[in-house]
Amino acid sequence: MDFIGAARPSIADPFLPNKIMNDQLEDIRECIGCNICYASDGLAVPIRCTQNPTMGEEWRRNWHPEILPQRKTTLNQEDSTVLIVGAGPAGLEAAHAAGKRGYTVMLAEASSAPGGRVTKESALPGLREWSRVRDYRIQQLTKMANVEMFMESEMTVENILEVDADHVMIATGANWRRDGFGRGTEAVIPNLGPEECLFTPDDIMEEKFPTGAIMIYDDDGYYMGSVMAEKLIQLGLTVSYVTPEAKVSSWSGYTAEQPRVQRRLMDLGVNIITSRSLSGFDGHRAELQCHYGSGSHFLECESLLLVTARTPRDRLYYDLQTYLETRSSDRSIKMRSLSKIGDCDSPSIIADAVFAGHRWARELDETVDFDNPAKYDRMFSCLN
Ligand code: SF4
Repeated sequence: MDFIGAARPSIADPFLPNKIMNDQLEDIRECIGCNICYASDGLAVPIRCTQNPTMGEEWRRNWHPEILPQRKTTLNQEDSTVLIVGAGPAGLEAAHAAGKRGYTVMLAEASSAPGGRVTKESALPGLREWSRVRDYRIQQLTKMANVEMFMESEMTVENILEVDADHVMIATGANWRRDGFGRGTEAVIPNLGPEECLFTPDDIMEEKFPTGAIMIYDDDGYYMGSVMAEKLIQLGLTVSYVTPEAKVSSWSGYTAEQPRVQRRLMDLGVNIITSRSLSGFDGHRAELQCHYGSGSHFLECESLLLVTARTPRDRLYYDLQTYLETRSSDRSIKMRSLSKIGDCDSPSIIADAVFAGHRWARELDETVDFDNPAKYDRMFSCLN
């Protein structure tokens, strides 16, 4: 019996059968296997999909997975132009959706390659499919005559004003924190140093590698801590993985991956220490506090990789906002909207960045009722 599994592929692209039938293979939005759809189910929140931002919003927001309403035009808006700064998942999806709506879109990216975090993360162990988030959108953008992409184009306030676009959207991503602030600690950890012994996932993805014994402190709790452990083991380092949680990558329980992730690190020989919080590091040893009150513990290590939280890379947005506020009466500036989205606005999972990009483009020049943006179900209580 031939059995075709098409649950997640149909969530990522509900028009998959039609596209196969019509030989539109390059238009298929391929599932990346992240299981965020499954996690939404487990969390009892509206379903989300990393690849398909309309998933779960077909009725609530009236979003069709393939068809977007054309932009509204008025006499003085016939050439409505959009400048998007940053070609990560949020920027790419915003360019894709705004292009489909008929805007003239310019997408500027500081680096030489599009994709932002999905390009960097897809080079890490087990995350190769992340690149499909980039590849689908690039494939679509190259077919749009009204969308232009500019690589190696780092933008300044002056450059943006020179472009003179009607709408400017900043999607410049986020950086991993180096100060220990994380989900569990919720505070900067004092006594972390020396600087040359501290690393973040950004360093590893930029191939700045530590040497010797390293401790990974995972106060993020999703996939990055365990992926970093595998990457550093591959590089031949002695790796300890420490987390305040009771399990490795505990949030991965929602995506049904946690047991496999923990088993993988055990098989790789990672020294796993759970239920301990980091309270200090001096370049030779880390001080850990037991979550259940059994006091301080010490771990010998030469470097520390902090996987805790990320801060938005939003300087450009605020510089531009400040400039515009001081020039509010300048009629020569035609910019009608300035926004920031994705990790640059609120660091989160890739699905949220894609959703934010799509939503921004859908709501451009539209009237949105922010008090009641989504329809909702009224549930009968069995107590009434
Ligand atoms: S959320 Fe991830 S696993 Fe689920 S359908 Fe979308 S891309 Fe596939």
